Amino acid sequence: MIDSGGNVCCTISSCHYWSQGNLCSASKILVTSDTMSKNLPDKINAPYASQITQTPVSKSYESCCKTFVLKTDYNQNLDGIIKK
Ligand code: SF4
Repeated sequence: MIDSGGNVCCTISSCHYWSQGNLCSASKILVTSDTMSKNLPDKINAPYASQITQTPVSKSYESCCKTFVLKTDYNQNLDGIIKK
């Protein structure tokens, strides 16, 4: 979700990029289908968006943020995304 300030709003507070006020502080995010997210390796993320096939879904719960990374995950910078 985008707030009036152009920020991505997100309630996933266990994510490395989450910040107070339910805002996302990732430099870029990749939203894709759940299936695609499961099948792509961790390092494939928003910087590769133009090379990833389209993944239409029918319901919001079939989509997810592939940029999510757990706060305690050691692989936080594997995908080229940084905190703003
Ligand atoms: S990267 Fe995705 S899951 Fe993490 S705070 Fe941003 S929108 Fe939420």
